Formats: sequence, C-alpha cells, structure tokens
Amino acid sequence: MNREELKLGKIDGMDLKELAKEFGTPLYIYSKKQLEENVLAYQKGFLDPYERTRVAFASKAFSCKALYQLMAQRGIGLDVVSGGEIFTAKQAKIPMETLEFNGNNKEKWEIELALEEGIGLFIVDSLEELYFLEKIAKEKGKVAKILFRLKPNVETDTHAHMSTGHSRSKFGISRKDFLKAWEFSQKSKEMEFRGIHIHVGSQLKENTSVLAGLKNIFSLLEEGGEKVLSSIKEINLGGGLGISYVEGEKSISVEEFYKEPMKQIEEFFQKHKKIRPWISIEPGRSLVGEAGITLYEVGTIKEEESQTFMAVNGGMSDNLRVALYGAKYEALAVNKSGEEKTVQIVGKCCETGDVLIQKAKLPEMERGDLLVILATGAYHYSMANNYNKNPIPPVICVEDGKAEIWVKGQTMEELIQREQ
Ligand SMILES: *Cc1c(COP(=O)(O)O)cnc(C)c1O
Repeated sequence: MNREELKLGKIDGMDLKELAKEFGTPLYIYSKKQLEENVLAYQKGFLDPYERTRVAFASKAFSCKALYQLMAQRGIGLDVVSGGEIFTAKQAKIPMETLEFNGNNKEKWEIELALEEGIGLFIVDSLEELYFLEKIAKEKGKVAKILFRLKPNVETDTHAHMSTGHSRSKFGISRKDFLKAWEFSQKSKEMEFRGIHIHVGSQLKENTSVLAGLKNIFSLLEEGGEKVLSSIKEINLGGGLGISYVEGEKSISVEEFYKEPMKQIEEFFQKHKKIRPWISIEPGRSLVGEAGITLYEVGTIKEEESQTFMAVNGGMSDNLRVALYGAKYEALAVNKSGEEKTVQIVGKCCETGDVLIQKAKLPEMERGDLLVILATGAYHYSMANNYNKNPIPPVICVEDGKAEIWVKGQTMEELIQREQ
C-alpha cells in the first residue's frame, strides 16, 4: 500500500473522500492491484520454482464470493473450515475439488455436505474424527481423500493465540496416534490416504518452527517405515507467513520462507529413494492482509492532561484483533499535515479494551476528518461482529479508478431481521 498516496487521500486512482461519501464509513477497502501482487508472490516464490505444488487460500482470513472467485481464477484453491465457507464457495461456483476441509470439530452435517459436494480433501484432525468420517462416508457410499493433520510439537515466535503446533494445542493428531490412524486408513475402503499436514502458527517472521516441525514429522515417518513412507503422496505445510502491520515491521518473502523447507523435504525423500510428494500450502493472512485498509471517520477527540483519546466510528466490531491478540496497527491521517502528536485511537464500543492503537502519531485532527488503518485485509471482515448493534461495514475493491462492491454494508433493518 502506498502510504504517501493514502495521506493525500488517494487509493489506486480513487479519492478516499468520494469513497466515504458514496459508501459511508467505516469502510473496508481492498486494492485489486495489491491482491494480484500477493498472488504473484506465491506464483513466483513457490509455484513456479517447484513442481508438484499447490496453493489453497485459507479462506477464514477473508471469506466472500468475490475474493473466492478472484483466487480461483488465478489457480488458487480454497481451504475451508465450516459448512458456511463451503456454502459460500458453492454459491461462488468454485470447483469443489479445489477445496480442502480443515477444522478440529467438523460437524456431521458439514461432513455430509462436503462428501455430497465432492470436496477435494479432508484434513483429518483426530483419530475420533477419522472413525466418524469413515462411518458417514460408508453411509453415503463415498470415498474421501484424506490428509492427517499432525501435531508437529513445536513452539513458535508468534502470539500464544496464534500458535497452533505445540503439543498442548487443540489441533492435530498426536504422535502416538499417527500409526494407528494410518493403519486404519489403509484398511478402509472409504478412506483414500494421501499424506500429512502440519500448521505451526500464524504471523510468522521466520521459518524455523516450520523446519523444526518437519524434523519431527520426518522422524515419525521413518518410525513408520517403508510402507508409511511410500504411502505419502502429499505434504501440506499449512500457512502462517507474517505480514507487516506497521512501518518497518520485518516480514519474510514467500521465496525465502519456503526455500529451506522445500530443500529439506527433497533431501529427505531422496535419502529414502522416493519421489518427493506433492507439496501444498494454505496461506491466508499474507494473500490478503496488506491489500486491505479500513477507512474511518474521526468523532470525539478528548484531550486530557495525560493523554488524548481520538475516537473513530468503528472499533472492535470491525477489528477484533487488538482485543484478541494485542495486535499493533498504523494509522494515517487523510489530507492532513503538520506537527504530529501522540494520541490513543479508540473505537466506539462499550469496552475499555476497544482500542485500535495505543500510541499513534498523527497531525492535529478534528471531528469529520478521515483516518485510515493499514493492513486490515485479513481476519477483519471475517471476524466482524454486531457488538453494540453496530452494522458490519461494506467491503469494496478498487482498481484503476473504479470501485466494485464486494459486500454491501448491513442496514438497520438487517440488524433485527431475524428477531421475532
Ligand atoms: C489459520 C490457518 C491457516 C492460515 O494461516 P495464515 O497465518 O493466515 O496464513 C492455514 N492453515 C490452517 C490449518 C489454519 O488454521
């Protein structure tokens, strides 16, 4: 995202003031150009350099039909975690074989839906789920392609709530259950075992935990012996690449992130005289995060002795990540300049924790001014909620001076339409 352009009130040839007037605020705005660049980074850094590779977008990061279509048109599959995401994909006419189904508690109706729709891959999260899936597949006369999500038993350098690969995590099959699950899958007519899956965490700045996870997986496969090794057709490395939320925050490129893991996987299978299996990944945040911003209008500014509170017309209802992870953001004042001072940017929700930025440096601003928060493209719209009966803001995508509505904003009527 071009900070200078935004400060001057522009995004990809569009005027922020005009957009605010037309669509209202808060407003989620995506840059088509930036989305394309993010996809291209995976093309150049992962798909092009290595054969037998696939990318599926972790759709929980930003789930809507238009984005699913954009990804599908560029050869990116979809990682879904609920019946709702499967339904959205179907409505968007995404080929169901490009979907993979993750999650630690897939419900019966969701598994049935996935089997009926012919979803490409089930990522099985526990031994119990394996038996459950087989039972449903048998009833329906279907065969399910499966990966086992394994606990890689590694710690990560990310926030505890974004770390998923340690042994205490609710996600994945533990080491001791792997062989049992594998043997079951080999005997079952309904289970087509394809390989394994690990996901160590999110907002990662380096690949060390992926490498540590791989090491654990390699030893587990070796313990399984020749038969297990030969049965591995695919390894899914999950997602997790971090992005830059504030200026200067370090992030790692796709190319650099996957280089060493790919080399080590290649060497491992070479050592065992096997062809390297397919390698798939499921990035979410890094495909969409920096392509989105939120546009707010400034409201009450409260100057107190110790600090200044600047309230905007959104908050934890459109950005839950500060309350959830203590996430850090950067704000830009639109069409304002001058000496900067430190303010606390807060939302309008009735929670003390409803803070967007603890310490933001901004020029003098007043009620009615526009403010942009950067890098809100991932886990914002998808986590948006109606707390305090705030309507969920619209989502638009801009490209070369044109704006397209991806999701309309909620109306007041819609806020109560399901109430009796
Ligand atoms: C959340 C998640 C992802 C995507 O993570 P990002 O950090 O957004 O790339 C991928 N795979 C699984 C299993 C996940 O839970």
